[in-house]
Amino acid sequence: MKIVVLKFGGTSVGSFKRIRIISKIIISYIKKKYAVVVVSSAMSGETNKLIKKSKEICNNFDKSEYDVLLSAGEQIACALISGNLIRLGYKSRSFMGWQVPILTDTNHGNSKINYIQKNNLIKFLKSGGTPIVAGFQGVNNKFKITTLGRGASDYTAIMIAKYLKAQKCIIYTDVEGVMTTDPKVYKNAKKIKIISYEEMLEMSSLGSKVMQSNSVQDARLNRINFDVRSSFKSTVGTSVTKRKNIKNNKVITGISLTKNDAKVTIVGVKDKPGIAASIFEPFSRNNINIDMVVQNISANRHDTDITFTLKQDDLNKTLKLLKLNKKITYRKILIDKNVSKVSIIGVGMITTPGVTYRMFKSLSRKNINILVISTSEIKISVLIKSINVKKAVSALHKEFKLDK
Ligand code: ASP
Ligand code: MG
Repeated sequence: MKIVVLKFGGTSVGSFKRIRIISKIIISYIKKKYAVVVVSSAMSGETNKLIKKSKEICNNFDKSEYDVLLSAGEQIACALISGNLIRLGYKSRSFMGWQVPILTDTNHGNSKINYIQKNNLIKFLKSGGTPIVAGFQGVNNKFKITTLGRGASDYTAIMIAKYLKAQKCIIYTDVEGVMTTDPKVYKNAKKIKIISYEEMLEMSSLGSKVMQSNSVQDARLNRINFDVRSSFKSTVGTSVTKRKNIKNNKVITGISLTKNDAKVTIVGVKDKPGIAASIFEPFSRNNINIDMVVQNISANRHDTDITFTLKQDDLNKTLKLLKLNKKITYRKILIDKNVSKVSIIGVGMITTPGVTYRMFKSLSRKNINILVISTSEIKISVLIKSINVKKAVSALHKEFKLDK
């Protein structure tokens, strides 16, 4: 039995028309002699509506009943898909998380899957049926319904593919795949045919529209290859797999960018152990996400400057926390509200020398000033003024031959 897991996101099942269209996609795999397991999300907007209901009835809605409520969206979508397949002459039935069962921990609202019992699904597949499994939900050891976190029907699909040892896992969504960069910023952005888990995770600004990033991480840990593609177009999507499977001559796979970042420099903080920790401790306590951090070497051995970036939305709160912080002293604080991080990403850079130079050179040719630099094994990021982003992305896209 060659098993394929087909996952449909909210917009792919967002209307009766869409459900009819994805039924055709499902049938096309049945005709190719695949044993098809469908995983569906709720119709788009449904989960939000359910959350709103819980808030309207009271503040502090009970966590366990919250999961019962939220899981209802997937139940509706699955019944509609299955009912439509039956109408078209195919054997099908819906499976809620507890019916599979998909066993989870007890952390309501954000549970992790412990185990998926595959017997019921396999039996149904062997009888020629197409199971339609509710994404985003499971059951815990107290027989209570749990949910797996927002966007987690991707997670369900990856884990079903793992436990059923599926040959293929395809995530159908409303975008064509992962693009080399944001097409709204650079119109010659191209679809990436194949990408590694690590690159996909690094390309969060591009990848997040495509798939929930925790699920990419779960796929990576379990070595599940998957494709992301559109249910609205018949074009092939992006394959996501481990590095070894990629025979690519490109040094760079994609260029990601952030919008609405801000930069803060604290001038003249003491150069001694524990200062950086004292600065950042209140931010972490208040869930403020700090991105890039640079500390200069101290010229006079007494004090130094620390620069960091964060989301513009968090800037005011951060400045307040800094002023309240009695553990540090400094001369002044400088801020820049309109900065963006542009990153080039690619496993190819590990083995190719000169990538950093080529990046800096292309930016300098366009007269773009680099404010902060940071690097990891497969990513080089620069912070620049937001007005320069379009120019920078276009120069880098050409430099690393992503237009072709
Ligand atoms: N319906 C759930 C949500 O909106 C799960 C999903 O769409 O993946 O978060
Ligand atoms: Mg989704």
